[in-house]
Amino acid sequence: MLIEVRKGYADAVEKHIQKVVAQRFEGAKPHELVKVQRTSGQTYDVFSFIGPTERLSEEDFRMVDGVERVTRLSFPFKTLAKYHKTPNQQEIEHPDIEVDIGGRIIKKGGFVIIAGPCAVEKKVRVGRKEISGLDYTRAVAEQIAAIARELEIYDMVILRGCPWKPRSSAYTFQGVGIEGLDVMDRAREVSGLPYICEAMSESQANAIANHADGMWVGARNSMDQELIEKVAKTGKPWGHKNGLKAMTLEEQLSWMEYGAKTGNDKCFIIERGFIDEVSGKYQRNHGDMMRALGNRDLSRVPVIIDPSHMIADPRTIPRVSCAAIQYFGFDGLMLDVGLDNAERATFQCDGQQFLYMSDFKKLAHRLVDIIKEQGKI
Ligand code: PEP
Ligand code: MN
Repeated sequence: MLIEVRKGYADAVEKHIQKVVAQRFEGAKPHELVKVQRTSGQTYDVFSFIGPTERLSEEDFRMVDGVERVTRLSFPFKTLAKYHKTPNQQEIEHPDIEVDIGGRIIKKGGFVIIAGPCAVEKKVRVGRKEISGLDYTRAVAEQIAAIARELEIYDMVILRGCPWKPRSSAYTFQGVGIEGLDVMDRAREVSGLPYICEAMSESQANAIANHADGMWVGARNSMDQELIEKVAKTGKPWGHKNGLKAMTLEEQLSWMEYGAKTGNDKCFIIERGFIDEVSGKYQRNHGDMMRALGNRDLSRVPVIIDPSHMIADPRTIPRVSCAAIQYFGFDGLMLDVGLDNAERATFQCDGQQFLYMSDFKKLAHRLVDIIKEQGKI
């Protein structure tokens, strides 16, 4: 970290720095300490901190009289950072994270599809028949598995389906609850595919850990540090969706660091876009591939794209999906998928955005061509 100070203020700033450092590093072991160096330039005096600066924040210094700029040189997400500077300024490159979800590997340069219904529904209509959430979810899982087998990507496919739903309105369907896990267990049984779902609380995380092969923290809870820790502490592989509002590059990885520093760094990013002035008109959320790429480059964490919750239009989702894999080189996709002839209006959650199975199959064909060309299979 560097602090640039206008001429005439350095002595006062130095005293402030000494106080902050003494307070933050009380009881620290020698290797945990930072050294502060003062250098005089022509227009500024500069303080450089050498060593592990994670205990310090830019905000500790930004508002002090005479401080012009505070610049952090190393990232505050040291478990997840790709590069790390040692106290003697050597740069170490850390190996990328590989996440194993029931034998499906999420890793940089790999490929997975996480597909299935958004939620475990109560009942829906398919053609003329009304069927239970259980029958529907099982049928979706079986058909996804059949497509995956036919296209020889069975070991790259994971199911999704959420028993609990975070909803922006308190008056809409919140999910079927714990029994949804039994439904997903049955879907895994008939398809042989592992499954993951969203955890919104510690008790949900523990219940999911007893059933599912992994879980994720959704957009609405993406800044809940306690939940992120609890999810990681289940020991299961976990995903993290970016927040509803724009997050900076450092921000998402910094929230994820709460989980990773518990010792469970089997994590991946799910980019689902965010709300801004264009979202809600043409697209549901503003997908930011550039930020997602930045997250991937700065960290050891693989990144998958969720076009369903991003563009949310089944006519456009295939194009965004192909671009994400072919041109941006992301590591996988998350897709809401439903049965052909399923009547969208009978779904309580995200009925307008899922891909019909036959469209999913066409997309999967195109994706297979792309990943073959990329040498991923
Ligand atoms: C979901 O994947 O079902 C979901 C609720 O997504 P998000 O957290 O991105 O809104
Ligand atoms: Mn959804």
